[in-house]
Amino acid sequence: MKRVAVVRGRIDVKFASTVVTRIIETEMPLLDPAELYPDSTPEILAREARWLMPRFQCPETHKLILTMQGFVLQSRGKTILVDTCVGDCKHRARPLFDNQRWGWLDRFRAAGFDPEGVDIVLSTHLHVDHVGWNTTLDDTGHWRPTFPNARYLFTRPEVGFWTGPAGGALLQRTGDYIADSVLPIFAAGLADVVEMDHRINEEIRLLPTPGHSPGHICVEVGHGQDLLVIAGDILHTVLQCTYPHWSTRFCADAAASWETRVRFLQTYADTETRIAPAHFPSPGVGRIRSEGAAFRFVFDAPEA
Ligand SMILES: [Zn+2]
Repeated sequence: MKRVAVVRGRIDVKFASTVVTRIIETEMPLLDPAELYPDSTPEILAREARWLMPRFQCPETHKLILTMQGFVLQSRGKTILVDTCVGDCKHRARPLFDNQRWGWLDRFRAAGFDPEGVDIVLSTHLHVDHVGWNTTLDDTGHWRPTFPNARYLFTRPEVGFWTGPAGGALLQRTGDYIADSVLPIFAAGLADVVEMDHRINEEIRLLPTPGHSPGHICVEVGHGQDLLVIAGDILHTVLQCTYPHWSTRFCADAAASWETRVRFLQTYADTETRIAPAHFPSPGVGRIRSEGAAFRFVFDAPEA
């Protein structure tokens, strides 16, 4: 199993005046491509494996290598955390996520950040691998907000979906992470429900990208030629640049996910905008280039 190699990396010194740092929870073979992509075929996967291995697909297990990570934005005197990984000590249906001790919060501290110093926690969407460190188990067995002085921002459609019947049915697959990682934030009075085009400041704004989940957002950082898009689960792996119509088994609305992904790829293809999807292997950021009718992802140089 490939374990964490890089625990902290600056994507760039700055986008406009915002410093971006990513804190990795894990980077390892996680999902069988046929499990992730229902539209894939054995023939296509065998062909693509030639270039996916070993960087993007494990030669031994054939599982796709995915990163779990959070992005820290230091912007205009505020510290903003985008996505909080799988989390520790959480009961989950997927064995690899169940009752783990990844130690992500120790890495967050080692990188020079203080949980009490976080001003805003932002979720690209409310899936199990994006909200885990929202809460921490305390000595009395209760889930408490990990970032006690932060406002946690959730988009309105996302909260509605996951607290309603359709979201509730999907939670059967993963275990009810909403109960231990989202509802305690509301109970503590730290939650703010925002619209999908909410702006944090002049340099950080939400970009509505529904489909993978109804209230999925990306986060635009910077402006003009100096732009980073933290892209959440618009793309899970580089395969979706080659096959943009491949939505995942985990997409709430496969057709909407496809539409949003294609529009996203077309918008940023052949521009200088840097894209940081939630799960791409290190260095985790790059640019989108058009290639025939599809696209490819050109990673930045590896981190030093
Ligand atoms: Zn995800």
